[in-house]
Amino acid sequence: MTQASLGESVAQKAIHAAQNNGVSSSFTRTQPLWLLAEVTYRCPLHCAFCYNPTDYDKHTQNELTTAQWIQALRDARKLGAIQLGISGGEPLLRDDIEDIVIEAKKLGYYSNLITSGVGLTEKRIQAFKEGGLDHIQLSMHDITEEINNFITHTKTFELKKKVAAMIKDHGYPMVLNVVIHRYNIGHMKQILEMAEAIGADYIELANTQYYGWSLVNRSQLMPTKEQVDEAEAITNEFRAKSGSKMKIFFVVPDYFSDRPKKCMNGWGEVFMIVTANGDVLPCHSARVLPNMQFPNVKDTDLGWSWKDSPAFNQYRGDSWMKEPCRSCEEKEKDLGGCRCQSFLLTGDAEAADPVCSKSPHHHLIQKAIADSENPALAAQPIVFRNDKNSKKIIAGEFKELVAEFHALP
Ligand code: SF4
Ligand code: SF4
Repeated sequence: MTQASLGESVAQKAIHAAQNNGVSSSFTRTQPLWLLAEVTYRCPLHCAFCYNPTDYDKHTQNELTTAQWIQALRDARKLGAIQLGISGGEPLLRDDIEDIVIEAKKLGYYSNLITSGVGLTEKRIQAFKEGGLDHIQLSMHDITEEINNFITHTKTFELKKKVAAMIKDHGYPMVLNVVIHRYNIGHMKQILEMAEAIGADYIELANTQYYGWSLVNRSQLMPTKEQVDEAEAITNEFRAKSGSKMKIFFVVPDYFSDRPKKCMNGWGEVFMIVTANGDVLPCHSARVLPNMQFPNVKDTDLGWSWKDSPAFNQYRGDSWMKEPCRSCEEKEKDLGGCRCQSFLLTGDAEAADPVCSKSPHHHLIQKAIADSENPALAAQPIVFRNDKNSKKIIAGEFKELVAEFHALP
């Protein structure tokens, strides 16, 4: 799955939908709005940009049971969560998504299945419709079979087109997510035309953000500044021409901004993620941070995890900040950016996000941008996301490759 799947615009839509369903929207910062259920890390695809943890193989044998997921849904709803994302890995590899959907409907969630489409059959989509699933977000990869199959390391091009038609036929809004990288950024116009031709209501052009597997493959995936600018211009032109028929959301890549994003809309403010093995996280990547213990739904109350656990309180608000963020007049806007990105690139989780031009580590981003102009770096072999490579990463292989991009101490 992709990080941009959780864009604010989608969250806003969820709030409105929930209001229409009679669900209270009087949430505050003391309650989560989103529960993201990463129900499995298993996946038939092997996307080079996947931002699941590179050590996900540790968590494929100890997935939560159906009963544990249902309890997590109930507990999160009690805390105030109104939006449920069912994600992975590929959630459809589990055969209990139908049960989870039915429970979500009963509890009043606005539910969103985030899928590659592999495993979506007529029978299952019918069951999801009857069970009350509100929304399906389908990932697409390119307009060419060659790039689709290369970047996912699977032959899924034809299947995705069939699944898109199936989603439309069942009366769901057609919501596409396309992760953008060096291999498909030159096809922006054709991707938008394809989306329009299959009747998409909404397309998210999610420029790759560099976490997990996409960080390992950063040199291979990262487009140049010129390519990003051109892609944005094409998107704007297309948007102006197509009017309001298809909503187009272009997610600006962090590395090409001079200010970071307010990561997850603030640590422990809106999002609560429960991972395949039950860990409760404020952000998908949070387990990369050192010296932190995250609670687990198997043995800890979800309310305590959200409100009182040291992990959720560690980076709430701004009292943890050091300079230059501490005295920065913009700190309310971005809360210093992303803790994981800060740690992965600087070795210090409390440093200003190096994306920020005020950060003393901003040169690391400038170097990455300069490196994107170097075809020799881009031509290095990709480390595809698969069990074998995950096992190797757990065993300490690829250290040199990773060290090349990370400024870890
Ligand atoms: S491998 Fe691809 S489809 Fe599977 S979880 Fe990762 S990004 Fe999603
Ligand atoms: S210095 Fe810190 S708070 Fe200020 S804009 Fe940069 S990241 Fe945000």
